[in-house]
Parts: sequence; C-alpha cells; structure tokens
Amino acid sequence: MSKRDFYEVLGVSEDASADEIKKAYRKLARKYHPDVNKEDDAEEKFKEVKEAYDTLSDSQKKAHYDQFGHADPNQGFGGGAGDFGGSGFGDIFDMFFGGGGRRDPNAPRQGADLQYTMTLEFKEAVFGKEEEIEIPREESCQTCSGSGAKPGTSPETCGRCGGSGQLNVEQNTPFGRVVNRRICDRCEGSGQTIKDKCNTCGGDGRVEKRKKVKVRVPAGIDHGQQMRQAGQGEAGVNGGPPGDLYIVINVKPHEFFERDGDHVRCEMPLTFTQAALGDEIEVPALSGKVKIKVPAGTQTGKQFRLKGKGAPNVHGRGTGDQLITVRVITPKKLSDKQKSLLKEFADESGETVDEHSDSFFDKVKRAFRGD
Ligand SMILES: [Zn+2]
Ligand SMILES: [Zn+2]
Repeated sequence: MSKRDFYEVLGVSEDASADEIKKAYRKLARKYHPDVNKEDDAEEKFKEVKEAYDTLSDSQKKAHYDQFGHADPNQGFGGGAGDFGGSGFGDIFDMFFGGGGRRDPNAPRQGADLQYTMTLEFKEAVFGKEEEIEIPREESCQTCSGSGAKPGTSPETCGRCGGSGQLNVEQNTPFGRVVNRRICDRCEGSGQTIKDKCNTCGGDGRVEKRKKVKVRVPAGIDHGQQMRQAGQGEAGVNGGPPGDLYIVINVKPHEFFERDGDHVRCEMPLTFTQAALGDEIEVPALSGKVKIKVPAGTQTGKQFRLKGKGAPNVHGRGTGDQLITVRVITPKKLSDKQKSLLKEFADESGETVDEHSDSFFDKVKRAFRGD
C-alpha cells in the first residue's frame, strides 16, 4: 500500500506553520479518535493522521521528510514512521492512556469508569427496585465550560513551549549534542496558560459533584452481579466521551431463604411425629406462604419442590422454584410420660424399622464390620 503524502493527510500546504499543522492534527485526531468515531476505518485514519503529525511536528523528521519523502524507511531517529508494529502503536497508546512523555495533552480522552457497590435486601434483589444513588464524580466545570478560564477570558497558548506542552533541551555530552524533551514547566504540559482562572474550579476545568443517578435494579439480580450504566462515569477530557458507571450488587443474606441461581432454597423443621405420621405444613414463601403435604414416613433431608415459587430470571427467562428441605428434629427434653411412651413405642416395634430404613441400618452395620 503506497502511503499518502503527510501534508495531504493533514490537509495543509507544504509551507504550513507548526501552529497550522498542530491545529489540523487536533481537528482530525478528534474526528477519528476510535473512542469517538465508531466507523470501521476510523482507527486506520487516526493512525495515518498520527503518523503524519509525528513526522511533521518534529523539525528534524520534517526536514528529512521534506527532502526524502517516504523513500527512506530509516528516517530520523530509530524506527521508521511506518513501523506500527513497534513504537508507532506505543505512541498512540501512551497518548490516550497516560504514561509516555509524548502524549498530546489536548487530545480527546474518555472519562474514567466509576464503580459503585449497591447493597440490597434479599427480597429487593428478588423483586427488583428503583433506587436513586449519589455518586461523587468529576464533571466539566459549568462556569467556564471546562476551559478553566474566567468567563469572558480564554486560555492562551503557552509562550514558553509554543503550545506543544514540551520543551526541547539541548545538552552537550561526550557523545555530542543530545536533544531531550521534557514537559513544559510553565503550562505543565497542557500547552496553554490561564491568566484569569475560573473561580469555581480554580483553573482545573473540572469540579467534583455528587451526581444523582436513578437506577432500575431488575428483578432476579443476584449477589456479585454487575450493572453497567453507559455514560454515567466521569466526564471526558477535551471533548472525549464520558466513562461508564458499574454498579456491583451486594445482597444481604436472609435468615431463612438462600439463592441458588433462580431457585430459592430453605429448610423446614419437622417433629418426628409429623415425619412419621405425615402432616400438612405451612412454609414461608417469597410472597406470603404456601402449604405442603408431608407424607407419612418422610425422611430427614427430603426435598420438596414448589414450581415457579423461586426468583424471576434476571434476563426474563422464566422463574425458578422454591426448594424445601425438611429436617426432622429429635426432641431433647422429654417428660417422664414421653419417655415411657417412647419405650413402649420401641417395644411395640421390637426395634424393627421399616424396609427403607432397614437397609440404611444394614449399611451402617456393614461399615462397622469394615465390609
Ligand atoms: Zn471553571
Ligand atoms: Zn508550555
């Protein structure tokens, strides 16, 4: 693929000033930044613009380019401008995600994502709710529209660095003269200075606000799940889009119910006469109560399933069941009369038990023998 002329890419003439080149670049970078522009070829165009600017904004690379064009792959300082597998991509990365010394302070950047932990009661998670939450976040200052300058005034291009935010420092070393770049100390890398700072934000262009966000928690949400609220994070910088808000759900444990996906589990105590003789018992359900028939001879640990009495699926795919496990309680304090009745009961049954339990006791006996 033949490369387009760098001046053509930026839409400037060959005798354009450094300022004109920079302006053209900023405009195009904003237009094609992949965070802003979702078109398929935006990223390619963005890289092309960045590459052109990298060369034309550097006086030595520019002089070299003006003389040799794209012909010499080893132009200037290590790594050709077309080398995107290596340093080229790193530059783009640095520029938008912090780090590296060469990032453009005025490029659009997406605002930071925020995280908020929302604590719900068990039934709130099951049935869903609407809640207004307050989140502290940085926003663009409304007094100065984010410029940081007092209304009526505007930031000026930094006189020290000419707006690049960086200074070239020449040093004589035993190996010859070396040019180092460092952040401009007057504008701290922003490329702009503000003479009259905005009183509201003190020149930052951003203020911390507690923002109220209405959140609809869907029925059936569960502990540890996360909800994304697009665009509710911190404000973008230099016209970049805002970040997102992530709400992490924390569900308080319930003393009776327990979630198992969309199913809701619980345990019900049974007296051993209820278990032996059978009974109809009332069981708490998520809404109200339900009656279940416990057949005679019910063993401890038996599970009863109530279809559709669980939690709704958070994605709207049906409703879970309520799963009730019964626990037969052995009485601890017995009156003398109860004791004698139970002895009578044991005599009457000759300590023989029904078939089901018999095999269970047999298993225990075999285990004792070591079979
Ligand atoms: Zn302000
Ligand atoms: Zn400066």
